[in-house]
Amino acid sequence: MHSFHYKDGSLHCEDVNLATLAKEHGSPLYVYSAHTFRDHYTRLDAALGDLDHHIAYAVKANSNLSILRLLNELGSGFDIVSGGELYRVLQAGGSGSQCTFAGVGKTRDELKYALENDIYCINAESIAELELINEVAKDLGLTAPVAVRVNPNVDAKTHKYISTGKSENKFGIDFELVSELYDRAAGFTNLNLRGLQMHIGSQLRSITPFIEAIERVAPLVQQLKAAHNIEFFSIGGGVGIIYDPALESGSPDWWAQQNDDELTIEKYATEIVPRLKKLGLRILLEPGRYIAGNAGVLLTECLYEKKGSAKTFKVVDSGMNDLIRPALYEGHHQIVPIREDQRTPLVKADVVGPICESGDFFCQDRDIADVQSGDLLALMSAGAYGFTMASNYNTRPMPAEILVDATEAKVIRRRQSLEDLIALEK
Ligand SMILES: *Cc1c(COP(=O)(O)O)cnc(C)c1O
Repeated sequence: MHSFHYKDGSLHCEDVNLATLAKEHGSPLYVYSAHTFRDHYTRLDAALGDLDHHIAYAVKANSNLSILRLLNELGSGFDIVSGGELYRVLQAGGSGSQCTFAGVGKTRDELKYALENDIYCINAESIAELELINEVAKDLGLTAPVAVRVNPNVDAKTHKYISTGKSENKFGIDFELVSELYDRAAGFTNLNLRGLQMHIGSQLRSITPFIEAIERVAPLVQQLKAAHNIEFFSIGGGVGIIYDPALESGSPDWWAQQNDDELTIEKYATEIVPRLKKLGLRILLEPGRYIAGNAGVLLTECLYEKKGSAKTFKVVDSGMNDLIRPALYEGHHQIVPIREDQRTPLVKADVVGPICESGDFFCQDRDIADVQSGDLLALMSAGAYGFTMASNYNTRPMPAEILVDATEAKVIRRRQSLEDLIALEK
C-alpha cells in the first residue's frame, strides 16, 4: 500500500483527506501514517531474516509517545540520546532493557537514571565517560553494561553536518585506540563490556560506506569477542530515504520507485547480512530516518504571494521553527499542493515562512504549484527530524500532530496554546 496519494482530487494519507484534517485541526499540521511506520519496521526486520538482530529505533527521529507505543508493539527496541528520551520510552510502555544509550555528553544524572532503569547498554564515547559510568555504577551497587562507540574514519558521503564517522567528527573513539581502551576498561570494577557500536552518519544513499565501515571494524569485533567476550555489535543507523516520492494513486511504495543503483532496504540487508553473520554476535541496528522519514508530512497554508523584481515568494504559515531541516543542513522536501488540480502549471518561486531569518525557506527557485492565499501545501517526508527539532522561536506555538491509521485520524499531540508558551515563565 502507498500511504500518501491523490484520491478524488485531493492528497490523502491512507484513507484520510488531508484537506479535511487541515480544516478540522488547523495549520500548520504534522500528519503521520501508521501503516508506513509498521511497513518500514517489518520490512527491515524481514530483510534481516535469521540474522540474530535487534532493531533499536532512533527515538530522536520522531519521539511522539504514540509513535513509540506503535513501534514498541511491533517489538522494536530504542536507541536514546538523553534521559528525556528514556522517560518517553518508559511512558510509552517500553523498558530500559530494550534501550541503548548513545551520545557524547551524558550527564551523571542521566547515567544514574539509565542504570536504575536496567538499561541494555550505555554506548560510551570517551575514557572520561567510562570512568564516570564506573563511579555511578559503584554508587548504585550495580555493574554497568557498556560498549564503546568506534569511529571507523569512513567517509559517509553525506552532508557535513550529518556525517559522524570521520576522525575530525566529535563522535566515537579513534579506531586505532579502541582495543587498548577495552583492555583498560576491563580493569574497572563496575563495568561489563557488552558490545561495540558505530554510526557513521545519516541519510546515506549508497551501500559503499556501510560495507567499508563493517569490513574495517569486523577484525576489531572478532578481537574484542575473543578478548572480552562481547555479545553484540551495533552498526548504527543512517539508511537514507527518497525525498521526492511519486504521489500518483496506484503508484508503488516509496522503495519500489528507486533505480537499480539506488539503495533499498532489501539491498542494504543483502549486502550486510552475510558480512555480519560471520561474526557470530547479536547485531543491533539503529534506524531513525528510514523508519519515520517518509511516514509524515507537514501541512501548511499559503498566506500570501509576493512578487518582487527578482523573485516570486509564496509566504506560508509554517516556518523553520516547525521544520528546520532546510535551514540547518540544506535538507530537501518535495512540496506539493493538496488540491490535485493545482499540480500544474508550475511557477518558479521560493516557499518561505514568517520567521525573521533569511534562512527561513523551504525551497528556493523551484518549480512549484502556483498556490494562492488559502491554498494548502504538503511538505513531504517530514516524519523524521521534523517535529522533534521544532522550537518556539518567534514565540510560535508548535503544530499539532495527527496519526492516521486507515480511515481513522487521532490527535497524538495537541497544538500548543498561547498559554503554553509562557507557562514556565515568571
Ligand atoms: C541519530 C542516530 C541514529 C539514527 O540515524 P538515522 O540516520 O536517522 O538512521 C542512530 N544511531 C545514533 C547513535 C544516532 O545518533
